[in-house]
Amino acid sequence: MDAEYVVVGAGFAGSVMAERIASVLNKKVLVIDKRGHIGGNCYDCPDEHGILIHKYGPHIFHTVNEEAWNYVSNFTEWNLYQHEVLAFIDGHYAPVPFNLNSIRALFPGSFAQKLENKLLEKFGFNKKVPILDLRKADDADLKFLADYVYEKVFLHYTEKQWGMKPEDLSPEVTGRVPVFVSRDNRYFQDRFQGMPVKGYTPVFEKMLSNRNIRVDLNTDYRKVRGQLKYKKLIYTGPVDEFFEYKFGKLPYRSLDFGFENHKKEFYQDASVINYPNDYGFTRITEFKRLTWQKADSTTIIKEFSKACEKETDIPYYPIPADEPVKLYKKYEEEAKNNKNVIFLGRLAQYKYYNMDAIIASSLARFKELKVEG
Ligand code: FAD
Ligand code: UDP
Repeated sequence: MDAEYVVVGAGFAGSVMAERIASVLNKKVLVIDKRGHIGGNCYDCPDEHGILIHKYGPHIFHTVNEEAWNYVSNFTEWNLYQHEVLAFIDGHYAPVPFNLNSIRALFPGSFAQKLENKLLEKFGFNKKVPILDLRKADDADLKFLADYVYEKVFLHYTEKQWGMKPEDLSPEVTGRVPVFVSRDNRYFQDRFQGMPVKGYTPVFEKMLSNRNIRVDLNTDYRKVRGQLKYKKLIYTGPVDEFFEYKFGKLPYRSLDFGFENHKKEFYQDASVINYPNDYGFTRITEFKRLTWQKADSTTIIKEFSKACEKETDIPYYPIPADEPVKLYKKYEEEAKNNKNVIFLGRLAQYKYYNMDAIIASSLARFKELKVEG
């Protein structure tokens, strides 16, 4: 295929760009991915028991960005799912993000009331307070609460997930799950939330089924880069790999997944239960509670985080901390010298992006490309 545009990676970053170039510019696009499927880390498929699973960990779509929501809505209808998470703390299940209901679940009535009053007085109702900020409170009761939440919700979970303490990561990481002075148990308050009715993979199938797009799977950019001809390359793989690690390897966190099928209708009382302090995994997700699938058995996934070290480890999370970001900046500078390459996505931009942020930034980058011609 003679393609003016080559896209490396068939996740959201690559697929949005391919779809826009093919549909709006009416140009030919070759998409390659080293995996045997499209969808990147959002890929889902039925397991051997017929349960729709997310192969690379649970994905819930949520956004405040109307453009991103409308864009994906061109390719799917939605179950209007609203995500709620429990954390297993000292033998009890409490809502996370930690909120006024969590206080009630974990502390006796009169003390819970006192903590609640103090939070309301200091921050006001419906306010979100990152744990690292709450820890700066000087009131003795709020300090007690902050230390408790830090220790029981954040510290050990973060050590498991990142191999680091919360304060050694960018505040944006634990800031994703702030203490919420509210009785709203939802994980996200975004205006648009949902799960694609038929799953994520059909979304990608629709995006990429355009006569201008050819998808070559099981094709590793490192093996074919010498043979590719293009006007523009859109690269969504790891940025350090693209530059053959010339400044050194960027660190990533990888995951091992433990899938289990249980011969009962449901396994647990929430879609996701976090285990900050117990066991080796960080959380358990029950897919049927996300997808609303009806079936006699149920499949769960346990997530075990680890450093990304072996060739076969998948780089899932860039690490938002000073040293890695400093190293990334060198690659970012180098990338600017490659005018015919667009670096896009979680791995190429080394950013802890959610799906909606990837879609929004790909749509924005496409608009620039349209102007550049
Ligand atoms: P990817 O999806 O990683 O796609 C990159 C693609 O490039 C991959 O398919 C890869 O195989 C391919 N590639 C890499 N190197 C090469 C090469 N050399 N040659 C050819 N192909 C290559 N976001 C949310 O909004 N909500 C969630 O609930 C959510 N949950 C998540 C849970 C987990 C466990 C993880 C890891 C992420 C989660 N995310 C979630 C984030 C979401 O997965 C990302 O935002 C999104 O997948 C990033 O899209 P991308 O296209 O940048 O990268
Ligand atoms: N976090 C935590 N305890 C929790 C939930 C989250 O310590 O019960 C911290 C942890 O550092 C985690 C980060 O907040 O990596 C972001 O959580 P999120 O659920 O957004 O992570 P993701 O779904 O991206 O893995």
